[in-house]
Amino acid sequence: YEQLVFCHDKATGLRAIIAIHDTTLGPALGGCRMWPYGTEDEAVTDVLRLARGMTYKAAASGLNLGGGKSVIFGDPDRDKTEALFRSFGRYVETLGGRYVAAEDVGTSTEDISHIQVETPHVVGVDVTRGGSGDPSPLTALGVVQGMRACAEEVFGSASLRDRTVAIQGLGHVGYHLCRLLHADGANLVVTDLHPDVVHRATREFGAKPVEPGELLSIPCDVLAPCALGAVVNDEMLPQFRCSIIAGSANNVLAEPRHGEALAERGILYAPDYVINAGGLINVADELEGYNSERARKRVMRIYDSVKRIIDIAKRDEVPTHIAADTLALERIAAISSME
Ligand code: NAD
Repeated sequence: YEQLVFCHDKATGLRAIIAIHDTTLGPALGGCRMWPYGTEDEAVTDVLRLARGMTYKAAASGLNLGGGKSVIFGDPDRDKTEALFRSFGRYVETLGGRYVAAEDVGTSTEDISHIQVETPHVVGVDVTRGGSGDPSPLTALGVVQGMRACAEEVFGSASLRDRTVAIQGLGHVGYHLCRLLHADGANLVVTDLHPDVVHRATREFGAKPVEPGELLSIPCDVLAPCALGAVVNDEMLPQFRCSIIAGSANNVLAEPRHGEALAERGILYAPDYVINAGGLINVADELEGYNSERARKRVMRIYDSVKRIIDIAKRDEVPTHIAADTLALERIAAISSME
């Protein structure tokens, strides 16, 4: 880690930690999480883990960004004040752009706008202030691109026409994923805990609904987890009947060893942090003055990133989740050696 900054402001009650993991490729961009951490150790562990994850995500996605993250101690439902976020913004400003803050669990566009009063080193600002808005449509587009790269490898064609895609979770990303896949001529099988969103997907896209407990073991070409993490676990492993796992959810593998197990079973896994990077690519575009068409073109390149990962996996004879880390590290090493 390059830097760990402890922020404390008695006047506003701010207690926060900013972690900068690596800035070889560019400024460390990462969300600002607000959470009622029990201890400082707990917060440090979380912010370090998350900051490191951002380095890999940005590098493997071809972004010229490093990895960082921040955490604010507090209950997002009770402890938020304008003064608290402005105080945090002043700390971000002291770093001179080495860290760029963004929205995360427990923070909102409104909080971001308070941070923005004190520093320009923030993204995810409101659309009315030139921000990039809801990232979900572009996250979904990135997932489709990743699916295509996997389909090309497994079926010899990147087309998703007539392929069966099973989608778990029809929230912000899942809905747009259905829309894009339907337009591509894919057959959809869907589930969600909320019947209304399932009805909508059935009505608008002819999706076939199944019970939440059934979806993961449905026979399909592509399984797209778009709800929860850890869907690839010991219990589910023997039950998968898909050729590809490619969705937007974070932390799809319960443990790294489950990535090896998928590879052994001949299931191609599109690493979560690469295939779901559309939202990050979209928000990062704000650093250059947001341009939706440019952001879209950059998200389309998730196809190339996933293809490269598949190539590395074959070259090194490793599972794809390891190949994704290799891609990230190779990019960082290539840039470090230029300096
Ligand atoms: P969301 O909260 O809008 O949607 C999640 C949906 O999953 C909800 O409709 C919920 O009812 C459903 N769900 C929860 N548990 C379920 C279960 N057991 N079975 C079936 N459905 C279930 O979230 P989102 O923004 O669409 O994000 C989906 C996933 O993608 C999350 O894991 C998120 O971290 C990840 N992600 C999202 C973005 C983005 O741009 N929104 C970017 C990167 C990663």
